[in-house]
Amino acid sequence: MRKINILILLALLFSSLNLSVNQLAYANEYKIERVTGNVYRFVSGRHRSVFLVAENGILVTDPLNTRTATWLKKELKSRFDLPVKYVVYSHNHSDHIYGAEVFRDSRAVFVSSQLTRQDIIVTRAKTVIPDVTFQEKMNITLGENQVELRYHGPNDGRGSISMLFKPEKVLFVVDWIVLNRMVWQELWSYDIQGMINSTREVLDLDFDLFVGGHSDTGKKADVQKYLSYIEALYSAVIDGIHSGKNLEQLKSEIRLDQFSHLENYEEWLPKNIEGVWKRLMNESGMAWRPDID
Ligand SMILES: [Zn+2]
Repeated sequence: MRKINILILLALLFSSLNLSVNQLAYANEYKIERVTGNVYRFVSGRHRSVFLVAENGILVTDPLNTRTATWLKKELKSRFDLPVKYVVYSHNHSDHIYGAEVFRDSRAVFVSSQLTRQDIIVTRAKTVIPDVTFQEKMNITLGENQVELRYHGPNDGRGSISMLFKPEKVLFVVDWIVLNRMVWQELWSYDIQGMINSTREVLDLDFDLFVGGHSDTGKKADVQKYLSYIEALYSAVIDGIHSGKNLEQLKSEIRLDQFSHLENYEEWLPKNIEGVWKRLMNESGMAWRPDID
């Protein structure tokens, strides 16, 4: 009799331990935090997305992937118990917009820019094809909230947009604005002139807080600082090319120490320089310019 009791106790203990280990794993991997008002940030590893909880429903942005979106859906259900009415994609990259099928059964409307939708179709990306698209600008009203979606021209990926949440004045941008960290390595897939143009454009918008698809949240002043870095990097490489320096010289000589507080500064500065140099050589055609040695 006693033995059986102990066995039952052990089994119970084990199953509760197992549960808490699982919860712990999720707690380490995923995080939901309130940004301000009805706007929340959802963190999964080095990826971030935001969602809006209005009184009559939820607007979800990038679902990231199936596993992550499944966890998010469950959390939304248990915390808010409101229908997901919109799923909005920031751009076309699979590490941000896969997993959207998880929200299909809730009769949500899927939204992206026209270029993102075209890219999903043409490349046969395995995510939900958006129902509603826009070319330049679209407004979504949900309860007392408004979400303004804008396309600013090429910057990273295809059809990447900004999302402005009102009345909270929170701006969400993925990949082409990164706060407190260097821009990703060799600026893989970036259109640097386009990033500068788009960032200048969003700085004219009325926002107080910024949430990025990677790295830290911040204020408008932090977005301004980020722009200063990209501009300084871009013009330092252009100056170097005009003074006849090759890539190796540029990588070892250019210092932008006013930005040395950025995460990965030492490690990624030569990579950032190389990325900018490659774009200037190819996209700007500086490799075959008659006035440059
Ligand atoms: Zn990304």
